[in-house]
Amino acid sequence: MKYFCLMAFLAVATGAVPSLDATPQNKIALVNGTLIDPGTGKVVANALVIIEGDRISAAGDQATAVSTQDAQIVDCKGKFILPGYIDTHVHFFQSGDIYTRPDAVDLTAIRPYKDEIAWVKRNLPDALGRYLGCGITSVVDVGGPFWNFEVRKIANSTAKAPRVAVAGPLISSVSRPQLDLGDPPIVKIDTPEQGREMVRKLAAQNPDYVKIWYIVDAENPVEKFRPIVHAVIEESHARKIRVAVHATELEAARASVEEGADLLVHSVTDKLVDDAFVKLLKERGTVLTPTLVVFERYGRTFANKLNLTPEEKSWGNPEVIASLDVTKIPAAKMPERLKSAMANPQPVLDRIQQTYDVALKNLKRLQDAGITIATGTDAGNIGTIHGPAIFREFELMKQAGLTPMQILQCTTINAAKTFGGDTGAKIGSLKPAR
Ligand SMILES: [Zn+2]
Repeated sequence: MKYFCLMAFLAVATGAVPSLDATPQNKIALVNGTLIDPGTGKVVANALVIIEGDRISAAGDQATAVSTQDAQIVDCKGKFILPGYIDTHVHFFQSGDIYTRPDAVDLTAIRPYKDEIAWVKRNLPDALGRYLGCGITSVVDVGGPFWNFEVRKIANSTAKAPRVAVAGPLISSVSRPQLDLGDPPIVKIDTPEQGREMVRKLAAQNPDYVKIWYIVDAENPVEKFRPIVHAVIEESHARKIRVAVHATELEAARASVEEGADLLVHSVTDKLVDDAFVKLLKERGTVLTPTLVVFERYGRTFANKLNLTPEEKSWGNPEVIASLDVTKIPAAKMPERLKSAMANPQPVLDRIQQTYDVALKNLKRLQDAGITIATGTDAGNIGTIHGPAIFREFELMKQAGLTPMQILQCTTINAAKTFGGDTGAKIGSLKPAR
């Protein structure tokens, strides 16, 4: 466990990062706090955590005979000590502001998309810092342009940043030309061979995931894109690269898991899941990220019914949040979609509720069945705020019927599985490093 995981969480608890010297030789003792280790489900009052250099060397009860000699003592009375949170679904190429998806709502007359992308790149350090400030010490960027590989490099060489895993461009059943400035985040693939070729191109960048955007509509039924899903997963697995699939319809999700998807992103929202689907996920060990918050945020933003939490208002980027006030858009430049949502918000809110009626039930069912659920927000999408969106995700997971400890497990020990390998084994828990 990296030392900064803990400090990030303390920052949330205290509102300020204690000034400590984290040089490798230093020994720090956290005393009097309440330790919560979701991995074991244990809660320890009056805990003692010893950090030596950048490793935890002891974590347990203060009564344990661990010496605090030579340690800098930090009194954590009234605070909680947890492993760093993990958001397993974000997109750094999107800011979360109103201009970030011109394919959903075209406001390029106010801010051209190239200016939006320039803003995103300029403000990357800010977005990274906000994750850390929210106690989130690891994130998975589940798809974006080839620039994503640069994001991973920048994050991993920046002190005030979470650990970042990335996928490159989404291998998609549909195209999004509005987002193509020469390094498109979404690439339409028409044949299995094109899919394999794309995987080979991505593999050169050593991606943590290959991402498939399995969008189903009248022109793209489930079976039409399935041979591409098959080819992409086969080609990725041959290179030991895991595959994340966006599939929100039960039949697309089922096909994805049958084809070998490692990570299913977003909930199934069109139907209640059936026994066969639950059994399939269990047998294959597929991890699922529900991303509940994103389902309400496009519609609520457009309808001027945005419900940002106090955490989002305090810890989100103020420029991004200000842009979400759709009443400030000049009438002459107001897109039809926003005009009608504002004039008649109820159907928008009803559609969100219908989505939740299915998604929340499905989450509870999968959790009860022992499927590995990994918390994720889809932050970066319009209205889903980089960093603190996770606190709204927690509320929705709780509404689904998960207990607070289960939610913490989804956000730490379960989410660590999306990293895999050595990193996955180290993060998401508070066990002393060997
Ligand atoms: Zn996403």
